[in-house]
Parts: sequence; structure tokens; C-alpha cells
Amino acid sequence: MAGAAAAIATATATAAATAEVVIEVKNLHTRFGSHVVHNDISFEVRRAEIFALIGGSGSGKSTLLRELILLQKPSSGTVRVLGADLQALGADEAVALRRRWGVMFQHGGLFGALDVLHNVGLPLREHTALDDGLIDQLAGWKLAMTGLAPEVGALYPAALSGGMMKRASLARALALDPELLFLDEPTAGLDPVSAGGVDALVLQLRALFGLTIVMITHDLDLLWQVADRVAVLADGRLQAVGSMPELAALDPPAVRPYFEGARGRAVRAARPADPADPDHPAKPDREPTSKPK
Ligand code: ADP
Ligand code: MG
Repeated sequence: MAGAAAAIATATATAAATAEVVIEVKNLHTRFGSHVVHNDISFEVRRAEIFALIGGSGSGKSTLLRELILLQKPSSGTVRVLGADLQALGADEAVALRRRWGVMFQHGGLFGALDVLHNVGLPLREHTALDDGLIDQLAGWKLAMTGLAPEVGALYPAALSGGMMKRASLARALALDPELLFLDEPTAGLDPVSAGGVDALVLQLRALFGLTIVMITHDLDLLWQVADRVAVLADGRLQAVGSMPELAALDPPAVRPYFEGARGRAVRAARPADPADPDHPAKPDREPTSKPK
């Protein structure tokens, strides 16, 4: 799997180098009062690219993500997403654009009062006129895509493990078949087994659907094995943008902490099995990262 995933990653990265620009950020500045969070940030993300954003706590990663998804306005600069200038959008255009991306928030963002199936179906209820039966069916498909068993659909978020929560919120992010997926810390707080499943899942989504993926992460496995390019945010600026091997060779001070001990892989010891949790299956054939048939 690791070899196949690496081959897919390389092939797709090569294709991405000539692909259409999906996100273009130019001379972006963000200030909160006198606090400068972003000081002249520019970068591009291309179609089917897996682009990671790293930086210390408070460096402005989540703020930048929010500015890419119309949740916050930068102080100045331009942001174009899927061809649209976010500052020049009318209300209807904004609604149409939001339907073309999915977002998995850092803390899942699932509604506690709704079971998982209804959480996943929520974007379909909001944005389409499909009937309830079809919405449940589609939501079930999205659950399956993220490796969750059908019975998880009936659970409430409070009953989910960390890994299941991340998968359910990913299933919801995929509800409207987005072209572009934003992930804020998709593996934070997960044990290494669950986190490893997310690595494989992200690669599969790109391989199967040609998704463009922007993720904030500190996870070295995601950075080394999944991200095509990584942007390093520190002191208000992008200190470097490149593949992990390129960044390792550059060795700027802001990047150094990410490479110390990078070779020391987490030991992926299995936890006690939870039959409903795909990250800790009772049987190996429940493993969600197997190749699609
Ligand atoms: P990161 O995700 O990299 O940890 P954030 O983007 O959440 O960082 O925050 C960057 C900085 O901006 C922090 O110092 C934070 O306190 C500040 N900040 C974020 N949002 C706001 C806001 N709405 N008002 C004031 N300050 C904010
Ligand atoms: Mg953050």
C-alpha cells in the first residue's frame, strides 16, 4: 500500500505541476488591531495537489484557512478560489462557490443533537431539493467512503472515538462532491493507528476523485507521505514553500523543528479492538485503507 500510495502521489504531483490554478493568494495582509498576523503572503495551489500549511501555534494557519473559505476577510490582498475573486463575489455567487468545496474543521464541528447520518446529510438538505430517502442513501455512501460502518450512522457524535469523529466530519465535508477539500488538523489528537488511516484516506480521495486538498497539519507522516508541497508560516510570512525533501534541503530555521526526529516513525501498535471503529477493527478485513475494487 505504501509503495502504491507513493507511486500515485508522485504521478499526481507531476500532473499537478501543469494543472490549473485552483487557489491563488496574492499579497495578503491580515491584522487584528495592531497585531499583524499575515504580512504579504502569496502562493498558488493547483488542481489535484495536496498542499499542507504548517507553522507554530498562533502563526495564522486557521485564519488563512478561514480567509480561503469566505469565513473571514483579509485586511488587504486578493484571494481567488476556483476562478472567483472572493472579494468581488455577490451573495448568490458565494452560495454557489461554497457548494464546490468541503471543510473539515479542527474539532469536527458535528452537531451533537443529530446522529451521524443526519450530520453527513445536512449539506444535502441545505443545498439540494432531494428527498429524505435519497439524502440518507447518499449520506450512507459518504460514510462508507470514509471507512465507517453503516451502523455508525445511527450514533450521536458524543459516542464516537476521535478517529470516527474525524471520519464522520470528513464524510460531511464530502457530502456535496466537492472539488476542493480543506482539512484543519485532520489527525490531531488521534493515536498513530487512526492517524495512519487518515493518511491513506486522503491519498485515496485525491486518486479517486481528483480532489484538490489543502490541509493544516503537524503530522510528519501526512507531511512526508501525503503532501505534495508544504508552506511554512512564521512571523507573518511564508518562510518557504516546497516538497518536504526540498524544505529539508533548504533548512530554514522556521522549518527545522519539523525535521528533527522526522525519521523516527511512530510505532503503530494496535490498540484494543473496537468493532465499530474502523481505525481499530476487530478483524483486518474491516481495514478502510484497502484499495478500491
Ligand atoms: P494558528 O491556527 O496558526 O494557531 P490562528 O490563525 O488561529 O493561528 O491565529 C493567529 C493569530 O491571530 C493569533 O494570535 C490569534 O490570537 C489571532 N486571532 C485570530 N482570530 C482573531 C480574531 N477574530 N480577533 C483577534 N485576533 C485573532
Ligand atoms: Mg489553528
